[in-house]
Amino acid sequence: MPTDADWREWDRRRVWHAFTQMQGYEPLLIERASGCTLYDIDGNAYLDGVSSLWCNVHGHGHPRLNAAITDQLTRVAHVTSLGMGNPPAAELAARLVERAPAGLEHVFFSGDGACAVEAALKMAFQYWRQVNPAMPRKTRFVAFEDAYHGDTLGSASVGGVERFHAMFRPLLFETHRLPPPDRYRPPTGIEAADVGRDALDRLDALLAEQADGIAGVIIEPLVQCAAGILVHPDGFLRGVRERTRRHGVLMIADEVAVGMGRAGTLFACEREGVTPDLLCLGKGLTGGYLPMSATMATGPIWDAFLGAYSESKTFYHGHTFAGNPLAAAAALASLDIFDGDRVLESLPQKVERLARGLEPLADLPIVGDVRQCGMIAGIELVRDKARREPFPWEMRVGGMACDRALRAGVWLRPLGNVIVLMPPLAIRDSELDRILDVLRQAIIDVGGELAHPRSESR
Ligand SMILES: *Cc1c(COP(=O)(O)O)cnc(C)c1O
Repeated sequence: MPTDADWREWDRRRVWHAFTQMQGYEPLLIERASGCTLYDIDGNAYLDGVSSLWCNVHGHGHPRLNAAITDQLTRVAHVTSLGMGNPPAAELAARLVERAPAGLEHVFFSGDGACAVEAALKMAFQYWRQVNPAMPRKTRFVAFEDAYHGDTLGSASVGGVERFHAMFRPLLFETHRLPPPDRYRPPTGIEAADVGRDALDRLDALLAEQADGIAGVIIEPLVQCAAGILVHPDGFLRGVRERTRRHGVLMIADEVAVGMGRAGTLFACEREGVTPDLLCLGKGLTGGYLPMSATMATGPIWDAFLGAYSESKTFYHGHTFAGNPLAAAAALASLDIFDGDRVLESLPQKVERLARGLEPLADLPIVGDVRQCGMIAGIELVRDKARREPFPWEMRVGGMACDRALRAGVWLRPLGNVIVLMPPLAIRDSELDRILDVLRQAIIDVGGELAHPRSESR
């Protein structure tokens, strides 16, 4: 039987962790979890303040999710989706269509969010070659700066987080990029209140000029999470839908992070009454239990891929574990919990509590901005509050605050200078209050330490 020391050693030396500098990496091994609490191999408990990276919805170890998975396990663990299917995946597709914005009628399953985006980009590209009349010149995509759509080469090509993607730029395809509507740091000469209109005007101008070479616009509805919880102004998503429709380009909504209740509605697009042409889901789709993602498509897109086998209109794309029945069973159970426990109905009260809990943070001297949408929040730490001057990323100030929170029993993971709060929707009031208290103290402590660096001897 391996010991704790073995696991630590293997985790440190043999596992290559995602988005992690392995030099100096200190293992944190989670052995079990229950509700919103994670337990490490030493028995330390941590509140899961970011839903195990934006995935978990109803808490860990939920009896109904566990039962759905183990029940499916007694039937079959995996079936390919190449030319065949399985009952849970079929039912899940039907139920997603029922719940999604009207018009999204077909579901292509993959395993991870990046794969759902990748599929959407390739569908959009192929659509224009097969639609009648074909418009094969429509090959480029429009994306927003600081967008994040995953780490495969296609999804990174439409991504815009420089620190993640710059290294791979020579491998990526060219994309039109537009500044996002950022109210905290508006473009020069633009008022915060006008950033949405300004960004839409730029989109309009680009599409007016180049739509005949553009396949689609990809957007993270309502919030660009990985950009540092950049919350778009109300109406922006609707504005993008209007512009894309007017100029005849597809709209791809990447709801991998904001979907599945996170923004307050099951689908984020519902908030603005928008039906995109393609919609990507991931992360919380299975309640955050198993890897599964989905690309939803409208009837016209699906139709463009129909034809005799010899016409080669088939979508030649797919992943081995797409439509996995265990994952589909978990996703169905998650939808059942949404309905049975009236999860969405319970959210406004929690969203409000989160908003009230964030208020005192905004007054702290190193907090520049606090942004929230539904159960998603970002707290941006700044060196100079008045001038909105960021800390240099090398200082790892967000990480310093999260290290302190961890020692106080709250697990958070920052995005540069932005501390992210994205607790499971099942978080209890008392747990949410504790996360906010711990975070507030952590930020105060970091502010103190930056103002008066401790000497090494103390
Ligand atoms: C996390 C994320 C992805 C990528 O999903 P993976 O499952 O990590 O591949 C794509 N888009 C958005 C908006 C995300 O937040």
